[in-house]
Amino acid sequence: MLTGQEYRASLRDGRRVYFQGRLVEDLESEPALAAPLAAIAGNYDKYYSAAPGAVNPVLLAPRSQAELRDRIPVLMELDLALNVTYQSLMTLLVAAPKVAAVAPEIAPRIHAYVDQARQRDLRVVECITDAKGNRSRPPAAQDDPDAYVRVVGRRADGVIIRGAKLHITAAALAHDLMVMPTKTMKPGEEDYAIACAVPVNAPGVHVTATTYHPLAGDPRDFPVSSQDSMPDSMCIFDDVFVPAERIFLDGQTAQAAVFAHSLGLWERLGGTSFMVVQADELVGLAQLIAEANGLARVSHVREKIDEMIIHATLLRAGLEAALTHAQATPEGYFYPDDMYTNVTKYQAATQFNTMVRHLHDIAGGAVVTAPSAADFDNPTLRPLLEKYMAGGDGVPGDYRASLFRAIRDLTADAYGGWHLVTNIQSGGGLFAQRLVTRRLYDMDRAKALALKAAGLPARPAAAETP
Ligand SMILES: Cc1cc2nc3c(=O)[nH]c(=O)nc-3n(C[C@H](O)[C@H](O)[C@H](O)COP(=O)(O)OP(=O)(O)OC[C@H]3O[C@@H](n4cnc5c(N)ncnc54)[C@H](O)[C@@H]3O)c2cc1C
Repeated sequence: MLTGQEYRASLRDGRRVYFQGRLVEDLESEPALAAPLAAIAGNYDKYYSAAPGAVNPVLLAPRSQAELRDRIPVLMELDLALNVTYQSLMTLLVAAPKVAAVAPEIAPRIHAYVDQARQRDLRVVECITDAKGNRSRPPAAQDDPDAYVRVVGRRADGVIIRGAKLHITAAALAHDLMVMPTKTMKPGEEDYAIACAVPVNAPGVHVTATTYHPLAGDPRDFPVSSQDSMPDSMCIFDDVFVPAERIFLDGQTAQAAVFAHSLGLWERLGGTSFMVVQADELVGLAQLIAEANGLARVSHVREKIDEMIIHATLLRAGLEAALTHAQATPEGYFYPDDMYTNVTKYQAATQFNTMVRHLHDIAGGAVVTAPSAADFDNPTLRPLLEKYMAGGDGVPGDYRASLFRAIRDLTADAYGGWHLVTNIQSGGGLFAQRLVTRRLYDMDRAKALALKAAGLPARPAAAETP
């Protein structure tokens, strides 16, 4: 296993990470990247063990429903890089038996890779979303054949890949990029059916980093995002060699979607787990600011908060159902129920805007105009700000302004904007969740119930399921 210090050293590996147009020579001296790097290093120290053969217990596959459930609160306390590593390794383990059905040599390769990633204590990120060019055309019909990552060359000992994976969480601070096809591939698209693990520092890999981490200003004005951020990246594969032992799919078009499906499930479980906590946080902020404004007992404010509570509680119920109905792979690794995971993620994402709207409605305009923390430091201003930001009944002005700043940071500034988009797009976007839900929903049962309610004996042939 690695200590935090060893993790820091491991990133000085010649990788090509770019931030705001510059090649970053030293990740630790780039403030917006240093903070998440330190958080990752902190969790390396937290789990470090010098015992021979020790691995991070968070990265072990759940062997029971209880283990699957117990892992979630642990992961929610950790950095996103460790979270996506867990998701990446679980994706591979759940996909392995399905791919092995057509390519038996792949399963042992996947297991060897997962074991090695745990032993070397690597951080592995999920690279599935391609550039995609014209979205209405399949990979092989694009103007630029590199719009989806593909194999452009073959050697006796491996393949050469070209293309880009976009939006990749934590890539700049990880060790390995787990590349997978973003969707099912058709015959003729064999070169696009490629899944493999690529070191971030492999020759030909370029990683651009973007972040909502505050790039300037007083951290007290960004109480959440200054403490908790993770860069997202475009990962470019400019003719990158991948050795055979790191290839998990190569040309088996029918199996291309197996990885995307497995990844989608684990990513949506992670997203749902986060949004369950996020929903309760929004309820708490709405109640706190209503109290600070002296409006907690007013009926329209209570009704909005009640609605927020109902949403937050339904999300918790959906996550609970996904865990209660967990299933196991033939090897005995537990994964959450697909249907409940997808519908809960969808519900959380689509209602997030309503939650934020209620919070902003209840809070008032000071969400975006409250004086800064430094304004309160000014001896001339402080008594005036305390006077005019006070909420009455002993609610101090500084406390109320701090609540506003937290609400702004979480919901109405760079981090809040990032969430508005991310909750909708992460895990493959809303369309992907609708697709899975429709596929798994028991439509025949629903139609039978409807016919029974309508008093009709049998469905007309013309009304068959499309
Ligand atoms: C902050 C953040 C972090 C992310 N992290 C990761 C990560 O770690 N790894 C990773 O692989 N991905 C990651 N993603 C990517 C995420 O999965 C994608 O954003 C999502 O799949 C949508 O893809 P896109 O952004 O290319 O949008 P598009 O695919 O362009 O979709 C935009 C809209 O067009 C629709 N659309 C697209 N194609 C079609 C079509 N053919 N027919 C009809 N409608 C269509 C979509 O349904 C959607 O409504 C992340 C995204 C965000 C925002």
